[in-house]
Amino acid sequence: MQIEGSVALVTGANRGIGAAYVEGLLAAGAAKVYAAARDPRTVAAGDPRVVALQLDVTDPDQAAAAARTAADATLVISNAGVGRGATPLDDDAIAAARDELEVNYFGVLNVARAFAPVLAGNGGGALVNMHSALSWIHFPAVGTYAASKAAAWAATNALRVQLRGQGTLVVGVHVGYVDTDMAAGVEAPKSAPADVVAQVLAGVEAGAEEVLADEVSRQVKAALPHDLAALYPDVQARYDAAVAAAA
Ligand code: NAP
Repeated sequence: MQIEGSVALVTGANRGIGAAYVEGLLAAGAAKVYAAARDPRTVAAGDPRVVALQLDVTDPDQAAAAARTAADATLVISNAGVGRGATPLDDDAIAAARDELEVNYFGVLNVARAFAPVLAGNGGGALVNMHSALSWIHFPAVGTYAASKAAAWAATNALRVQLRGQGTLVVGVHVGYVDTDMAAGVEAPKSAPADVVAQVLAGVEAGAEEVLADEVSRQVKAALPHDLAALYPDVQARYDAAVAAAA
């Protein structure tokens, strides 16, 4: 599908990668962009093609209401996400894991369930789900978050099969660190949000079912057939070094 003339909806559109999606879509000629946020007042005003919309993705009723309002959507980008930075053994790990699953997994399902009929009614269009390199590599500091991203990846694969018949392109996006609030505490190379967005929009136009938006995600995916030998010795070494440094 073409971005030019499309009617897009972006979740978590008020900041970070979501705000970059809105900018990228407008620059690429989208006819309208529904910028969905928990608090629509936090959506940047300016371009008349932007329609701020309330959507807490954990609330299926709000997702249904958003789908009624954005009944002309042809491109839905499930971008909203949270990371609580919990290891699986932290005191608050279960609460963090539930929180992350609510947004990163059930939120993705709520949006897909609400908008699948809208996309069908508008000719198929595309559904883009934001995952992570952490869908495929898991280390303690982001252990609960990574599980939610793996769950969302699984849902995306199932949705792709289910929605193909109605002509909807389902795109999974994987990327390592991106320079937003979520990765503010990370000392590592980070992609620019606009660069990730440019690759995703190009992928949608090309009909790509998966976008690996940086070298980290490409390397991790390539290593998956031998992940225990290819990836985890390094993960273990880094973890052991961090534990030793903290002792
Ligand atoms: P961010 O800067 O922390 O922004 C998160 C966005 O999600 C905010 O707009 C936030 O809205 C919204 N959000 C949180 N909970 C929500 C809910 N229940 N309903 C609706 N919106 C909600 O994060 P980001 O880096 O832009 O991340 C965007 C997506 O990319 C996420 O899915 C994230 O997991 C993924 N990702 C990020 C990185 C990275 O390194 N940054 C890497 C790979 C993948 P509020 O302002 O209301 O909190």
